[in-house]
Amino acid sequence: MPLLSVVIPAYNEQEIILKTAAAVTQVLEDAGIEHEIVFVNDGSRDGTWDAIEQAARADAHVRGIGLSRNFGKESAILAGLRESRGDCCVVIDCDLQQPPEVMVEMYRLWEQGYKVVNGVKSDRGKESAFHKLAAKAFYAAMSAIVKLDMRKASDYKLLDREVVEALLSMPERNYFFRALSEWVGYPSASVEYDVRERAYGKTKWTTWSLFRYALTNITSFSAIPLHLITALGCFVFVVAVVFGLIALVQYFKGTAVEGFTTVILLLLLIGSVIMISLGIIGYYISKIYEEIKQRPKYLVAVRTGEKEQTEKGL
Ligand code: UDP
Ligand code: MG
Repeated sequence: MPLLSVVIPAYNEQEIILKTAAAVTQVLEDAGIEHEIVFVNDGSRDGTWDAIEQAARADAHVRGIGLSRNFGKESAILAGLRESRGDCCVVIDCDLQQPPEVMVEMYRLWEQGYKVVNGVKSDRGKESAFHKLAAKAFYAAMSAIVKLDMRKASDYKLLDREVVEALLSMPERNYFFRALSEWVGYPSASVEYDVRERAYGKTKWTTWSLFRYALTNITSFSAIPLHLITALGCFVFVVAVVFGLIALVQYFKGTAVEGFTTVILLLLLIGSVIMISLGIIGYYISKIYEEIKQRPKYLVAVRTGEKEQTEKGL
């Protein structure tokens, strides 16, 4: 019988680990699906690791790894996928905002031959108006860039082993799971689910961290901002030619004294365009720098069931 791996990234989720493990186990056992649960402790500062160990002791289906620090959700997912042994893997959040029952539906679709089953949000749940707007703008940009509709995409997905291996073999550091699992192609299906409210704790995202996330992901998928610079340069050139002609005409007519304001404005305009452009180029260079260092995307410090290390209190 095929094995389903459930990968659950967890960052400061101590209150809910045991409940999540129980809920997932319940759903999968009821459906008669053979499974394992792989928790990834993404450098939590609370008792998340203890909770994971407790869950692992209570249930042989549960395993866990702990990263050496907080590497971010994408890296945690990747670590979990590498650790998983299943013929297919489901990635699900720890907070139970994504109903585990949907997993069974995903699994059935996988049995029918789909290699990727996307969980699609039927609505975005409770979020502030600003957050909704920002998310909308980001997904509109992302959808245009990746050429796939990502507005309702989430990280709740089932992936066939083949797809998991494809994702694991990607060398890039800026890893945007949601978009890359679309990028790999393969026959895919989707399942809708309603986003629930968080039962414990609060979201791990701040507006600033989401903004950084958006910027990183857009630049890791697209060079359009770089091309925009060229377009901007062309635009400024046209403006310069027009103003140049006007200036020449004025010179020959002998009325060239005024126009100081124009000079100041042009200087300011061109100066700021150049600086913004350098900023964009600099950002890409910094990304290239990050990629070229080829550092590992995460480091595993502990595993459940390995005594020595847990005694060190990691
Ligand atoms: N998460 C993580 N590392 C991080 C931030 C979040 O592993 O640095 C996990 C978190 O524990 C949760 C999932 O990613 O299981 C989604 O986080 P959250 O619920 O805060 O995001 P939201 O649902 O608000 O988008
Ligand atoms: Mg959540």
